[in-house]
Amino acid sequence: MTQSASEKRKRAREIRQKKRRNLNRILTLIFVIALIIAAIAVAVNIWGNHTYKDEKEFEEYAAEYLSDNEQEQAVGQLNETIEYGQPLSVALTYPVTSQQTADDRIDAAVADIQNKFKRKNAGASKEEKKALILGYESHKTEREAVSVTLHKTEQEEKDKEMQTVNTAAYAYNFSTKTGRVLSAVQIFENDYKDFCSRYMTDYFEDKYKDELVQDKYKKALANSEENFNNFALSEDGVIFYFGEGTVVSAEEGSVAVEIPYKELGGVIRDEISERALDPNKPMVALTYDDGPFPQSSNRILDCLEQNGAVATFFELGQNAAAYPKVLQREKELGMEIGSHSWSHPNLNTLSDSAIKEQVDKTNNAIKSATGQTASVFRPPYGNSNASVVKHANIPVVLWSVDTLDWKSRNAASVEAVVKGVKKLDGKVILMHSIYDSTAEATENLVPWLLNQGYQLVTVSELLEYKYNETPKGKLYGYNYFYLND
Ligand code: ZN
Repeated sequence: MTQSASEKRKRAREIRQKKRRNLNRILTLIFVIALIIAAIAVAVNIWGNHTYKDEKEFEEYAAEYLSDNEQEQAVGQLNETIEYGQPLSVALTYPVTSQQTADDRIDAAVADIQNKFKRKNAGASKEEKKALILGYESHKTEREAVSVTLHKTEQEEKDKEMQTVNTAAYAYNFSTKTGRVLSAVQIFENDYKDFCSRYMTDYFEDKYKDELVQDKYKKALANSEENFNNFALSEDGVIFYFGEGTVVSAEEGSVAVEIPYKELGGVIRDEISERALDPNKPMVALTYDDGPFPQSSNRILDCLEQNGAVATFFELGQNAAAYPKVLQREKELGMEIGSHSWSHPNLNTLSDSAIKEQVDKTNNAIKSATGQTASVFRPPYGNSNASVVKHANIPVVLWSVDTLDWKSRNAASVEAVVKGVKKLDGKVILMHSIYDSTAEATENLVPWLLNQGYQLVTVSELLEYKYNETPKGKLYGYNYFYLND
């Protein structure tokens, strides 16, 4: 049988096609091998040799680490600080919001984390490599609050690789009204700890069965505020953070669990309560006598309003009658309005009927301005006797810290007196609302006290929360407002 010309051509075509198929196979194989090599190279770059030698490499390392851990960042502008060093290197990112009070708090927290890292590693030798890397997430919420959580990672070089040795999360919730940090009591109803304890115990026993720290986790999830005070409000719910090794084994790092808002019904307040107080945290009552005097009184009120704080104003009846608008503003802002007599006499020298007249006329003036009478009384010069207490018929409240603002007329002196008191918790501070120097001191003291962790309260709140006292018509004298000192 002979091959026809057409069969020859067909055969030649088949050979060419086969060669081409073989070439394609080889090319595919080469491509796959190349891919595998590339993948290995990438893997080695990520998992092996994952460290840095100089400033430029640390910057790259930190940037990559932070982008791997990129979180939701809904609030503020990103601020970045990178400090390469031997042995300690630091890469910090945190948000700058438009609210100074919140930014001051974030700055302080970042500085604190950085200082602790430096102190802890003060003895490291130059050959060691230790890094602090701080990322963050931030959220807008359906309430009048934003949250910022700082995520800390501490690393050390072991076997030419940076390895994580410690992680932590620090959550802050800021009021969008005042920029101040909100406490649990302002966000949750009172029984939230009980709810969280049951919810989290069920959650962890279900999801982390094998990783639970058996001798610790029940205590770490018990019904107590300190177990549930590291939380951030998010768009969808509340994220609770648990410290490394407290609930689940340390290899898991710090753990976050989000409870959706719909499951928190009845446990979380519908609106944030700026005025809710935590009796377990320190409190101070600022008091201002002798007003109202519009210029300085309004300046003090501006400061208190901006900071979401309150104070007590012991007003003179004759001034209240002259400037009722200041009293109306005090009432609107939730200040406590007290009586300081009509015309500032030494009441101990007056007859019963004269004392009664001083009390009644002042109450009438306060009532015609605000619709209510004074809730507390402070006699001029702190001078009172049984007749004064009887006619006042409301708590007669003196003070435990005298700023002598009337004498110094100097803001720095007033501030120094307050800052010089060892334990301010439970104290009543005496000032006068009629001096610009006192208004200036207030503008510095209020943010300072709040940053020190003091809740600023009225004297009635102080009596109720710190002294478990239902305020009544008796004298609360100079020796009353001392707590454990
Ligand atoms: Zn006075």
